[in-house]
Amino acid sequence: MFNRSDYISDSEWNRFLEFSKDLETPNVVINLHQIKYNFIKLRDSFPFAHIYYAVKACPGEPVLRLLNELGSNFDIASRYELDRVLSLGITGDRISYGNTIKKARDIEYFYQNGVRMFATDSKDDLRNIAKFAPGSRIFVRMLVEAGQSADWPLSRKFGCHPDMAYDLLVQAKELGLTPYGVSFHVGSQQRDIGIWNEAIAKATYLFSSLEEEEGIKLSMINMGGGFPAHYIQPTNPLSDYASEITRYLHDDFGDEIPMIVLEPGRSLVGDCGILTSEVVLISRKNNTALQRWVYQDSGKFNGLVETMDESIKYPVISEKDGPGEKEGEVILAGPTCDSADIMYENIKYKLPLSLKAGDKLYWLSTGAYTGTYASVEFNGFPPIKTYYME
Ligand SMILES: *Cc1c(COP(=O)(O)O)cnc(C)c1O
Repeated sequence: MFNRSDYISDSEWNRFLEFSKDLETPNVVINLHQIKYNFIKLRDSFPFAHIYYAVKACPGEPVLRLLNELGSNFDIASRYELDRVLSLGITGDRISYGNTIKKARDIEYFYQNGVRMFATDSKDDLRNIAKFAPGSRIFVRMLVEAGQSADWPLSRKFGCHPDMAYDLLVQAKELGLTPYGVSFHVGSQQRDIGIWNEAIAKATYLFSSLEEEEGIKLSMINMGGGFPAHYIQPTNPLSDYASEITRYLHDDFGDEIPMIVLEPGRSLVGDCGILTSEVVLISRKNNTALQRWVYQDSGKFNGLVETMDESIKYPVISEKDGPGEKEGEVILAGPTCDSADIMYENIKYKLPLSLKAGDKLYWLSTGAYTGTYASVEFNGFPPIKTYYME
């Protein structure tokens, strides 16, 4: 159903097969070389931007070490992520506390460790920041409609209406904080570049109205993530995102665009992982059923949670794929005793009719939101293991 070479070159594929041949399944193999390539490409596409890697996408130490060497900053969501990043020698001045949902004592912990940049979207959180991280730089997250064009929307839960963002930035100043800027996230795997235009327009409105009415001069727009990885549905190349978004910024701000922060997660690491699973069982629900159920040893609870609502559609290939192999429709499901543990049922994936228990399946582009976005031991199954290939 999928052409492996549309997603990965022969040489990288062979390197992966060699690296992974003796690893127990299920596992995820992360290609560090590819992450480096993606980072450099993003940096070169947005030469004016400051990159804060969204650690949650793939928090493995080899990944953090690599991005540290490449000069990335880090978007952190919890004290545990903070500890990990600090333990690698990364200092608080390169860290942004981007989660709007945080305990007062965690704010204090970040402050004690040198972090001075905080996201917020509510009054209570702002007051906590003023108290436990005095003088820090504040950016307010605005609500942005991700629309139908984001495969993993991240909407509703975060951000506030621009009018409220305005009030919070005024209040930040009153509380002795530095009103620094605004942020948004247009939804992860956002396939409609135009959404950035609407979001930047909202930011522009806040920049100008705060300056005119309150004398508050904001410095920064944090444009979050949303840049694509390579899944089944086509997207524009990153260069189109870069040229369009750069144009929106210049349309609104002329020659003097504010400091721009990007928080890429998926676009840096998504294409850089392959999840290997083993077929446990293949069955049909009645004697004439056209579709086979393919149960495999990874599922919603160990690696493939983003298949929820069949949102992220990974290319899946099998070791039986090959020219002339007849394929048939399958329902792909995981190994646990939970009926939610079905990855694709409505979308009809096809796999070779010769597929047997014990065969390997390869889930391509599974570098983001797989390794740690998982249960601990539901049904006793351990978390999926991640390996890092240079
Ligand atoms: C998850 C997250 C990101 C990363 O988004 P991607 O679409 O994976 O690039 C960036 N910023 C914030 C605040 C996030 O929560």
